[in-house]
Amino acid sequence: MIDHRRLGRELELCVSDPLAGAGLPIWLPAGAAARHAVEEYVRELERRAGYRHVYSPPLGRRELFELSGHLGHFADDMFPPMRLSADDEFVLRPALCPHHALVFRARGRSYRELPLRVAEIGGMYRAERSGVLGGLSRVRAISLNDAHNFCALEQVGDEVREILRLIREAHAALGIRPAGFRLSLRGPGERYVGDDAQWARAEELLRDALDGADHVEGPGEAAFYGPKIDIQVVDPAGRESTISTIQLDFDKPERFDLSYTDADGRRKRPVMVHRSLVGSMERLFAYLIEEHAGAFPAWYAPVQLVLLPVDDGQADAAFELARRAEAAGLRVEVERAGSLGARIRDAARRRVPYAGVVGPREAAAGAVSLRLRDGRALDPRPAADALALIARVVATRSPTLLPES
Ligand SMILES: [Zn+2]
Repeated sequence: MIDHRRLGRELELCVSDPLAGAGLPIWLPAGAAARHAVEEYVRELERRAGYRHVYSPPLGRRELFELSGHLGHFADDMFPPMRLSADDEFVLRPALCPHHALVFRARGRSYRELPLRVAEIGGMYRAERSGVLGGLSRVRAISLNDAHNFCALEQVGDEVREILRLIREAHAALGIRPAGFRLSLRGPGERYVGDDAQWARAEELLRDALDGADHVEGPGEAAFYGPKIDIQVVDPAGRESTISTIQLDFDKPERFDLSYTDADGRRKRPVMVHRSLVGSMERLFAYLIEEHAGAFPAWYAPVQLVLLPVDDGQADAAFELARRAEAAGLRVEVERAGSLGARIRDAARRRVPYAGVVGPREAAAGAVSLRLRDGRALDPRPAADALALIARVVATRSPTLLPES
């Protein structure tokens, strides 16, 4: 069985150091390169779907989290407040919603601006007990792909449908295996905020947005502030977990007194939709490392091309090709130490999708022979063609190493 912790160390993606603290992983250059590519992709996907990205700090005054209800409901999961002076206490945030509510509240809002989609890949913290921490799957410092979509109740159905579309697109690009949907609903005898009619409508909108997709319903599993959809994924060991979620919230708009001016001039309360397309970067990569056994699709592989001059006579040609690959936006390295066979094996061990062999004939002809990490060898081809091939696979975020014709 593949363990992302062992593989993460072997591939030098990330480490945990007891000196820094458990559950506080450090992303090494290779892991950071892969994560950066994924973050860029997610932001681009969101930008094209009308999201507005913001930055907000991972800590805030105690009063902010009293207002949001986090200190009332989740204090046990939060780090204790830090006292700066007698009347100034700060807490590490357990969620981004309070800051995003303040983005909505930064000025008066009109119905014309809705849905207003506020997005951020932001830091948050959970005071997990050390016994439950494990690699990237359970951590204390979390970088969440988060957004809060403020909309009118009648917009919720279309908004959720569009979020589901984005989730499916992101899953396909990253190579995530979806395992179905869980719809969490109200149960009997619990206390919920919002009125009955609002809940019934919200549950109906979520069910409709699933458009008949297979799903499991969990009565009584909803948070007190609204129903939600969890998008389940399955890992190579057959375990199900949640990476992507869509959560409706009637409570925070109330707590933060959020409102917009409707077409008839009246103040109305928006609904807040918390959603994450790919979850936290930590849990996402715990999953991706295991799902792909470290062999990420080329577009987010830490190093995409390693160039191997057969001997020193081709070193200049290899470095020149590396410069061109870099200029084409690829992550490339030149590897000169050791026998050619050992270097090819090492590139495959590191899951580098493409190794480019430059021998005397290739160097003389301005060519390169590509070896794929799955062992396939391509005929020598002009360097420009080889770079175009790789660039096309990367640009189309193909799951395979050769362009799909
Ligand atoms: Zn939220």
